[in-house]
Amino acid sequence: MDTKQGASGGDVLTDNDRFWAKVQKTDSCWLWVGANNGQGYGALKVSGRNVRAHRYAYTLHKGPIPEGLCVCHTCDVRNCVNPDHLWIGTMADNNLDKEIKGRANHPKGDKHGRRKNPLAFLGVCKTPSAKVTEVQVKSMRALRAMGFKVRQIAKLHGVKLKTARGIVSPGSTCWVSAR
Ligand SMILES: [Zn+2]
Repeated sequence: MDTKQGASGGDVLTDNDRFWAKVQKTDSCWLWVGANNGQGYGALKVSGRNVRAHRYAYTLHKGPIPEGLCVCHTCDVRNCVNPDHLWIGTMADNNLDKEIKGRANHPKGDKHGRRKNPLAFLGVCKTPSAKVTEVQVKSMRALRAMGFKVRQIAKLHGVKLKTARGIVSPGSTCWVSAR
């Protein structure tokens, strides 16, 4: 396991213990208050390797991240490690997500931890109870095209199987852009 022995032989802290010691939960986001990697993402060392805190959080709660894919935030708070705010997409999805947020979101008056998601105003997903953004819809469809199973896609995006199925089925009208 990932148990580490302190130099003195006294403290035995697991990677998990060190992770949770740096998380401050709010009503929505779980904020990483440990080191950051210089770009606003939380950073920690796991088994001697530098890992982004939100990626670690995803792995911890939801399982391994498929090779080559990114962990994106629905909340747009880079140091947030709440697994409910994390979804898996391709690098292209991640860039598109940033681009749309950058356009829609002018950097005034942001309070940490509770930003409004600007994507919410750009369109609407008609699937009841689906809390997904346009980029997530695109990403789910891209993952499907890459051969991922609907069940995996639902898991990767943290949505119900029914929701994922509604989004990736051919001819789905789930996402209607308002732009
Ligand atoms: Zn968050």
